[in-house]
Amino acid sequence: MSPPALSLHEKLNQLRQRFINQLPARLEKTTEQWQLSLKSSEAESRLAPDLHRFFHSLKGTGRSLGFERIALFAEQAEEALTTDPQRADIDTRIVNLLNQLKDELVYLQTHQGQQAAMAGLNSVEFPHQPEQKRSKRQRLIYLCDDEPEHINSLMHHLRCFGHEVVHFATTESFFNAVLTRRPDAVIMDVQFPHGQTAGTETLTSLNKLTGEQLPSIVLSGHGDFHSRLSAVRAGCDGYFTKPVKPLDLMLAIDELTSPISEEPLRILIVDDESEAAEYHALLLEEAGMVVQQVYHPNDALSALERFCPDLMLVDVYMPVCSGEELATIIRQQPEHVGLPIIYLSSETDSQKQMSAMTAGVEAFITKPVIPAELVSAVHLRAERLRLLRSLMTQDSMTGLYNHSTTTDLINKALIQAHRNGRQHAMAMIDIDHFKEVNDTYGHLAGDQVIITLARLLKTRFRLSDIIGRYGGEEFVVLLKDVSTEQAVKLMDNLRNDFGQVDFYAGEVSFRCTFSVGISDFPAHPSTQSLRLAADQALYRAKRQGRNQVTTSQELDHDASACE
Ligand code: GH3
Ligand code: MG
Ligand code: MG
Repeated sequence: MSPPALSLHEKLNQLRQRFINQLPARLEKTTEQWQLSLKSSEAESRLAPDLHRFFHSLKGTGRSLGFERIALFAEQAEEALTTDPQRADIDTRIVNLLNQLKDELVYLQTHQGQQAAMAGLNSVEFPHQPEQKRSKRQRLIYLCDDEPEHINSLMHHLRCFGHEVVHFATTESFFNAVLTRRPDAVIMDVQFPHGQTAGTETLTSLNKLTGEQLPSIVLSGHGDFHSRLSAVRAGCDGYFTKPVKPLDLMLAIDELTSPISEEPLRILIVDDESEAAEYHALLLEEAGMVVQQVYHPNDALSALERFCPDLMLVDVYMPVCSGEELATIIRQQPEHVGLPIIYLSSETDSQKQMSAMTAGVEAFITKPVIPAELVSAVHLRAERLRLLRSLMTQDSMTGLYNHSTTTDLINKALIQAHRNGRQHAMAMIDIDHFKEVNDTYGHLAGDQVIITLARLLKTRFRLSDIIGRYGGEEFVVLLKDVSTEQAVKLMDNLRNDFGQVDFYAGEVSFRCTFSVGISDFPAHPSTQSLRLAADQALYRAKRQGRNQVTTSQELDHDASACE
């Protein structure tokens, strides 16, 4: 059994403990260095920056973790070294402060319990925790309707889009089901036979009973004002008159239950003080972000490559290079120009803050941070970058990756696949006779088909698969760790479901199909050759009558048979 998850508070206390435990050795080392520096004037000038940084970070981390007296002594030592290092009594002052720090540590180690309470960390005010985000795209939908004609078609459409749908023919069975397993959304018929509670009344009493509003859409035979008003009063989010177009209902459900879970924000922290890095990581993780810590500026660049953060949090005072220098190095690389960087430092001098900002840094946050402020500063800037990135990488109509991003991502995936000996399949999908769809039903109806297919692809494939809109009505999917046979099955199921979706242009309904060409990696080892092979298979599917899946293996097989 895994140990129970620790609360933020317990994690912070562990971190405080670690900080205190490692401090005696560091103080001892610093004392030795100081004594050494007193013997040689040359060594002194070399040691001064190290010493200064030691006290400076001790001040910041001490304060962050709630050790006020440690922070105070460290601050005095830092000041003494900054303002007048040549003063005659500098050595005794530093030695005194080091001793005071040691005494404080002894005190802390004997009074740990009380200290935790005194430190004020118990009063850490933390922003409201975001609700745990769902990782799955599938929704649980309850459909409560006693008229059998529409139900099958509605159920089919909802299931096509990967939702779990449960049907209830009576309001009573529906009522009980909600109490045992709460759905993500409800589709409710208004009229039920005599003797049963009406749909809107059922929803009203459920909402009262549970104290929570169920996301709900009402289906009704009437579009009159009174029927609509009673639905609004029952807290319904949508209203459709029968007969309902399933696709419209689908989109309404989508809107009601979105946003579809987003990837958590990724934050890279660079700080030579591991306890400080850990403390800030804890705060950000508690707010649902994924954090990676780096304790040496040397490692920052490779961490950037591997971790691909949405934002970087950098300490200003570090050995080897300063936060400013690191920011400049990062900014000089075109691929990181847009990366938001926030400085963290115990530096309160606004002049110094200003000079840091000139390195292209987004913000300067002073240690000790106020947790809610850190979280919101990071959140705001990281989200903004996400938005900018998505505008550059996504197709605006479907939200799928655009052509160049798809190619880039596939290139990267193949490099990895080569390394790990993995097997992938590529599927090129092209809507059949789409020109005719546009010509017959209009461009808007055509757009609807494209959007629907894109949605279907997103809901049916895994987050790790790469799904892109390659051109107008042409899509590409890289299915990871999948054989050609498996890819054919997946695509055939999708093709069948898509073929049964009803599209509407005004009152006229129509259906669409698509053709697929599949190629496989590593038989086709590059993006270009995969694409070419998939294209040829697709061409063949079209020639053989469309609405089918063809593989490059079949082509290869036929070719060798001809020889
Ligand atoms: P085939 O079965 O051989 O693929 O025939 P097709 O008509 O689908 O193929 P063709 O490539 O001749 O026509 C594609 C059409 O798709 C032409 C273009 O106007 C239309 N199209 C491209 N992008 C969009 C779009 O964003 N919206 C709409 N409505 N139509 C688009
Ligand atoms: Mg086409
Ligand atoms: Mg085409």
